[in-house]
Amino acid sequence: MRSPDHQITRSPDEIARSRDHQITRCIDSHCHLADPAFAPDLTDVVARAQTAGLASALCILSADEPAELARVEAVARAWPAVRFAAGVHPHRAGPFAGRATEAVEIVRRASVACSVLAVGEVGLDYHYDFAPRPVQRDLFEAQVALAVDLGRPIIVHTREASEDTFAILARASGVRGVMHCFSGTLDEARQSLDLGFYLSFSGILTFPKAGTLREVAAYAPEDRLLVETDAPFLAPVPYRGKRNEPAWVARTLETLAGTRQVGAAPLADRLARNFAELFGWSAR
Ligand SMILES: [Zn+2]
Ligand SMILES: [Zn+2]
Repeated sequence: MRSPDHQITRSPDEIARSRDHQITRCIDSHCHLADPAFAPDLTDVVARAQTAGLASALCILSADEPAELARVEAVARAWPAVRFAAGVHPHRAGPFAGRATEAVEIVRRASVACSVLAVGEVGLDYHYDFAPRPVQRDLFEAQVALAVDLGRPIIVHTREASEDTFAILARASGVRGVMHCFSGTLDEARQSLDLGFYLSFSGILTFPKAGTLREVAAYAPEDRLLVETDAPFLAPVPYRGKRNEPAWVARTLETLAGTRQVGAAPLADRLARNFAELFGWSAR
């Protein structure tokens, strides 16, 4: 039998990785399971996620991509606990120049068809600038208004556009949501939290050079945290460069737990409660 002292001498990482308490309630709060990358082996991907202790995942849909919406049924069949969100991504804003109302109708229809928990992902991406910035802003603002109208939270994608993102969110009253794949500064974390938003950490948290981000993750209040994969993108260490999948959210969860010096299993429970509080849906 181990002495009680044994636990105290373990490093934070060892505590986080402890199998004394199996993870059973972890939720991948952001992945793209309807992406064609998963079409060939979806059932295997889901089986591995369930074996890793995932209770559910939130599958993000491009509302303006009929081929992706056509795969929703297959995803729901493969994993009945999965839930959906739909929006027009800032990368895809270009064709909606001057037609934000049309985009909103497309998102509204997808929201009903897929019983979405949230509108998203929506936002601004000034890194790639795939669409003109004023068009991105129009579309973001219109979809924020739609989320408020539907009484749903939003999933925000923002890259090198924090000032405009915060300005749009601050103007909208009654908007709630999450900064997905949060990789900003401590000041940006504070601004997000001040707006009532949650912070969702991705595999970036596991990257060796992400020391500053881990400081932010240690600072953020426990009741505003989520984890995600953004699969098939952004695989965590030690899978970098491979196709990411929901099972690997466990790596990010363990890093988050190690950073915060808490156990991974109780943290997974807390994050599942956060998910339920934000999205109004619980895996059990
Ligand atoms: Zn994104
Ligand atoms: Zn995404």
